[in-house]
Amino acid sequence: MAIIRKLGIDLGTANTLVFVPHKGVILNEPSVVAISTETKKVLAVGEEAKVMIGRTPETIIAHRPLRDGVIADYRVTEAMLRYFIQKALGRMRFLRPDVMISVPAGVTSTERRAVIEAALRAGARNAYVIKEPILAAIGAGLPIYEAHGNMVVDIGGGTTDSAIIALGGIVSANSVKIAGNKIDQAIADYIKEKLNLAIGERTAEEIKISIGSAVPVEHELTCTIKGRDFLTGLPRTTEISTNQVVEAIRGSLEGMLRSIKMTLQDAPPELAADIMSDGIVMTGGGSLLRNIDELVHRSTGVPARVANDALFCVAKGTGTALEHLDTYKASVMMKR
Ligand code: ADP
Ligand code: MG
Repeated sequence: MAIIRKLGIDLGTANTLVFVPHKGVILNEPSVVAISTETKKVLAVGEEAKVMIGRTPETIIAHRPLRDGVIADYRVTEAMLRYFIQKALGRMRFLRPDVMISVPAGVTSTERRAVIEAALRAGARNAYVIKEPILAAIGAGLPIYEAHGNMVVDIGGGTTDSAIIALGGIVSANSVKIAGNKIDQAIADYIKEKLNLAIGERTAEEIKISIGSAVPVEHELTCTIKGRDFLTGLPRTTEISTNQVVEAIRGSLEGMLRSIKMTLQDAPPELAADIMSDGIVMTGGGSLLRNIDELVHRSTGVPARVANDALFCVAKGTGTALEHLDTYKASVMMKR
């Protein structure tokens, strides 16, 4: 068994990924922590905690500490970091690895320091944080240290984050709490209103992934959905097709686009010109929605493309930055 000395953690609003240089993503679990309301003890983290959502007795709450992209509860964050670090190390849990963690672009320096402290308490030898859009850009292979503007749009579960980066720093950025989860909710609401059927969050997400699209298509896909009829209260199945999903999620996508356009509008003209010629790079699970690049292009006038391994860009970025700390030192906050 190889000794793990370095690990990167992508603390996402939906999923947490652990990346080990030369190995890749070794863990990918939901960002959920289950806590007892009576003893306040952490009962489970990750996959096991997610299973508890919706099925837990009243004495357990399942927290999603980063649901909206904000790190709200540091005790819970620490429990989460400890779980992922220990699980990654396996039998080598006595080792103290160097750990790189992604933090939302909008966090304050106090919050960043709190994440670093939490990582050290959770077993890191040295802990480093870098803002997520920078990691997404590194993971997507963009040359962030050039005097040239690069734009990344990361669509996750809880937030859509857009940023323009030049010389290793964020020049203009926006975050909006409209991303994968809101899109799922919009699909569920549409099906409730238009088709009189109640479906759960999970079913809505499956519909989005299997037939969804950001713009109307000529050759539609369809799927059969099972849910509970609103009027009779009985189980019923019906069909839904791609362009109905497009209609359902239009409002949410418009909110995302407004935020992306604000980031472009705030950029200095030279950088805007760079982005116009290089295009926008999209990362995160939400960027896998069909034709989302096409929608961003139509709406902003700037070409857009989805990065390779879009789901893993931030995680890959944490590994690359850890391995080349010297190269990326201007973007890192750290504590040994
Ligand atoms: P976070 O970084 O916030 O944890 P992720 O980057 O892991 O989020 O993305 C999670 C979101 O991506 C979820 O809302 C999920 O439904 C969505 N997603 C994953 N795969 C697809 C796909 N193929 N099409 C559309 N959405 C997807
Ligand atoms: Mg993410």
